[in-house]
Amino acid sequence: MRIVVLAGGVGGARFLRGLLAAAPGAEVTAVVNTGDDVTLHGLRICPDLDTVMYTLGDGIDEERGWGRRSESWTVKDELAAYGAEPTWFGLGDRDLATHLVRTRMLDAGYPLSDVTAALAQRWQPGVRLLPMSDQRVETHVVVTDPDTERPRAIHFQEWWIRHRAALDASSFVQVGVQDARPGPGVVEALTTADAVLFAPSNPVVSIGAVLGVPGIRAAVRAAAGRVVGISPIVDGAALRGMADRCLPVVGVEVSAEGVGRHYGARSADGLLDAWLVHTGDQATVPGVDVRAVPLLMSSPEATRALARAALDAAGVATTP
Ligand code: GDP
Ligand code: CA
Repeated sequence: MRIVVLAGGVGGARFLRGLLAAAPGAEVTAVVNTGDDVTLHGLRICPDLDTVMYTLGDGIDEERGWGRRSESWTVKDELAAYGAEPTWFGLGDRDLATHLVRTRMLDAGYPLSDVTAALAQRWQPGVRLLPMSDQRVETHVVVTDPDTERPRAIHFQEWWIRHRAALDASSFVQVGVQDARPGPGVVEALTTADAVLFAPSNPVVSIGAVLGVPGIRAAVRAAAGRVVGISPIVDGAALRGMADRCLPVVGVEVSAEGVGRHYGARSADGLLDAWLVHTGDQATVPGVDVRAVPLLMSSPEATRALARAALDAAGVATTP
């Protein structure tokens, strides 16, 4: 069985871990958002790819949800002592090795997909880890500059981490998207998949960024198997995060129904065949099989059960 998952960072990684437990024999491909990628201190950083890789490779700091377990911060402190900006990004010592290897390989001319495969050699994530694109497509956020009161675009990471998404945003821009192509293997994996799953990741800056790469949306619509989405919005709010700051910017209501309608039905120019919402949430999405199941990934068992419900909605069998 071939399953493709569109994923961001923490929500995507946790869901993928449950999916591997629910379908141990499946061949899973994760198409991961690279819109959050950023170059800091000369290093190329891919937050969502690393979160998925560390989570599935058992190197993640479970409490934080990102970065390495047993991390130390000597280099970050030393950079701050030099006044080297930016100081708001968490760059751990262990994590730094990943960015050094990645940057060196990219500088030598390897595409991000090859670099990702090389890093995954160490972590053995148990899924095929594909960047959405080998080209740089960075998400920027248009905000009003508090000093000049004029619109200004800042990198998504600066908005998200430095400003904690508190600056009002007027739009998101995928810088470089017009020259981007889906990463190697992405379109083929989608079109031949027995099931395509949208992890409960941020619908705008994670899943939305992946779908924004020219060709990916059409490949999802052409998928051989069913397309099933899992809502990251539970009881009218985003879990563990500030995703509810992103949806209004693109005119989508912060509800499971709002996000489901935003993705839309595959039978009507949209993407979904089925949409999972949390038990107790109401959603009507015309043309889409909406199912209410527990969506809290609060334990390995709960997450596995969620993945099984997604596979069930996709009409593919799993062993109990
Ligand atoms: P990021 O890149 O690290 O921000 O992570 P993602 O985009 O993959 O996931 C962030 C989203 O995960 C947020 O919108 C949360 O609402 C959602 N999320 C986090 N934990 C859970 C959970 O237990 N269940 C569900 N359904 N969604 C979750
Ligand atoms: Ca992310």
